Amino acid sequence: MITENLAEFASKKFGQNFLKSTIYLQKIIQAMPNDTLRVAEIGPGLGDLTKELVKTRRVTAFEVDKRLCEHLNHEFERPLETGAFELRCGDVLERWESGSLLDEPYHLVANLPYYIATTIILKAFKDEQCQSILVMVQKEVAVKFAAKAKEKAFSALSVLASSVGEATLCFEVEAEAFVPPPNVTSAVLLIEKNRSRDDEGFEAFLKVAFVQPRKKLSKNLITAFNKACVNQSFEKLELDPNLRPHEAATSIYHQLYNELKDNLDGKQQRKLSKQRRENTQKQKTQSS
Ligand code: SAM
Repeated sequence: MITENLAEFASKKFGQNFLKSTIYLQKIIQAMPNDTLRVAEIGPGLGDLTKELVKTRRVTAFEVDKRLCEHLNHEFERPLETGAFELRCGDVLERWESGSLLDEPYHLVANLPYYIATTIILKAFKDEQCQSILVMVQKEVAVKFAAKAKEKAFSALSVLASSVGEATLCFEVEAEAFVPPPNVTSAVLLIEKNRSRDDEGFEAFLKVAFVQPRKKLSKNLITAFNKACVNQSFEKLELDPNLRPHEAATSIYHQLYNELKDNLDGKQQRKLSKQRRENTQKQKTQSS
């Protein structure tokens, strides 16, 4: 039976680290938005978090591992019958290829598989139906998403998070709370969305802006944009030419992008397109 030797059962390929601490399961439930929207859970695993969720919410769960789907179909027979619980077996990233994850507004709540956690969060930013994201991820990832301008960890991920809403690192979770324990410390991250944003051009632009995080922002930008245009934009927006990438607020990135995106020549267009293709390829490799 699955639960006899969990550490042996867990698949590394699918990033399986099962959260076995009742305290942290309860802390996740307490951090959830207080309404009756459906919950989408990615990677229910053995169903420990799911059990808490179905007590008060309608839940749709997405699980890639067939062995776990079988287990969940058995464990959640009753809520599956009443419709309080729905289980979709397969790769959640494939579900997103055809549009929104669900066809009604939802909150994403999950202990995410870490190998695709960032990809999943970025997909949820674009999904109009997703209202909020409450997820367990590697602590460093949570810190990056939740960082504010001028903090050292402020990065492209922080800019993207603050472009769709407000990100908060809720609490840290030590490796011993999981079976098997991961090699990293984890943290629960909450992103309350106030809008969705699907702009691959802006994502590629941020990659360029943060390509060398400790260098000057203008220096990074001229690796893809015409130097005169970068300088003109800095002057127009009255920006300090010595500004470092982590020092510029999110609104500045949007203004710079608006100034520069129309000033791309053929070579620069190709560079940004290449960046975009690399992003897509990276996401595909992570999920295969
Ligand atoms: N929610 C459980 C818990 O808290 O104990 C399990 C969390 S475990 C970190 C990640 C879960 O995501 C596993 O059940 C794994 O099989 C599932 N998973 C991994 N990749 C997936 C994918 N591409 N689509 C859907 N589920 C996936």
